[in-house]
Amino acid sequence: MSITTRFAPSPTGYLHVGGARTALYSWLYAKSKGGKFILRIEDTDIERSTQAAINAILEGMQWLGLHHDDGPYYQTKRFDRYKELIQQLLKEGKAYKCFMSSAELDGIREKQMANGEKPRYPGTWRERTDHPENQPFAIRFKNPLNGTVVVNDHIRGKIEISNTELDDLVIQRSDGTPTYNFCVVVDDWDMGITHVVRGEDHINNTPRQINILQALGAPIPEYAHVSMILGDDGKKLSKRHGAVSVMQYRDDGYLPQALLNYLVRLGWSHGDQEIFSVDEMIELFDLDAIGQSASAFNTDKLIWLNQHYIKTMPAQEVAEHAKWHFDQQAIDLSAGPALEDVIAIQADRVKTLKEMAEISRYFYEEYQEFDANAAKKHLRPVAKDALLLVKDKLQAIQQWGPETIQQAINDTATELDVGMGKVGMPLRVAATGSGNSPSLDVTLNLLKPEQVAQRIDKALIYIANRENS
Ligand code: GLU
Repeated sequence: MSITTRFAPSPTGYLHVGGARTALYSWLYAKSKGGKFILRIEDTDIERSTQAAINAILEGMQWLGLHHDDGPYYQTKRFDRYKELIQQLLKEGKAYKCFMSSAELDGIREKQMANGEKPRYPGTWRERTDHPENQPFAIRFKNPLNGTVVVNDHIRGKIEISNTELDDLVIQRSDGTPTYNFCVVVDDWDMGITHVVRGEDHINNTPRQINILQALGAPIPEYAHVSMILGDDGKKLSKRHGAVSVMQYRDDGYLPQALLNYLVRLGWSHGDQEIFSVDEMIELFDLDAIGQSASAFNTDKLIWLNQHYIKTMPAQEVAEHAKWHFDQQAIDLSAGPALEDVIAIQADRVKTLKEMAEISRYFYEEYQEFDANAAKKHLRPVAKDALLLVKDKLQAIQQWGPETIQQAINDTATELDVGMGKVGMPLRVAATGSGNSPSLDVTLNLLKPEQVAQRIDKALIYIANRENS
């Protein structure tokens, strides 16, 4: 059997991490089975759906690399199809017109609630034929009166619902628009969905949807209802917990690989393994191994994964993602070394790509002023001789490179008979503006010789000013 899955977001907001995890699971399952992954935009709620939200969802999926094989489909473009099938059900006596006014319906509901009953439509118009003329009506699905619906959910196991608990669902409103549950059913059928992976908030819809699928003569897909994501305080994940939008993670400097790895583990496991490349996820993923309980978001773990990927992914690939952050921070990458070279030496010094850009500015432009503490500590009059001598030696280098740079520093220390730190630290502060940088041979190597010389002069001026004040 060929597998088809889908992600079917309602475009009422950004793509949040819960949705992204559902999308990932759905995508992984299709990929792991050599199947197809469909993107469907469920935009029937015209009041709440926006183009901005659609764009945000597409952007989030693109950034995560969860590419669809088919779609995006839009439900608002498929109204004719839904209506056609509603007419068919009417003709077959599997649906009926209901002329109950909303006031009347409200009255019934109120009574039921006052009696401590679950509000449900009592089937008033189910068998009636005395239809009034020129009166608005909704169309309701004739839910079976007896029997049970059984769902063998891949995550939650066997779920059984008695049909006596389900009332006759409105499938077309009195304004002629089809309702949400009906559209989902038709789409899942028309798009050949074999596996529905979605949030557990839809679990109550499933028996109703199965009944409608059956009435249409459509095959019943398999289901996997994914649990919720909670914040680290055990409450439902929301903005209060910080970032929830996928694109906010991009903005905060996370690699999509790290977020994907984080999300796949949030609810799914394969032994004790924590690190999964996307290829490994595809190879090992299975719906049946997803846990039932809600998972708590743990930012520290995400940071740990992000560091791991920044350090271990090819610098060239990290650079592809880091570029955006340098742009955001108005750092002109054309004014300095190749970004991947900077990343190669800075990778183990940062948690995020945002930090990567922050700490790498000195490779691309003059720093404005010295870090106050570093300058106070290392740019003292005693450092003057070391800076003057190392400047000479650096300027005399024929072949600018890590070895020759290191040699110049070593020779300076030997000639002045001082420890390496006495040369290295002032030189570091001079060359980078701060006391933190990768080792000097590789750092200076990415700067131009004349740039280094100028920066040493700047440090010497700083020292001179300090002597005079
Ligand atoms: N549109 C629904 C949502 O965004 C998903 C429905 C489904 O997956 O069946 O929650």
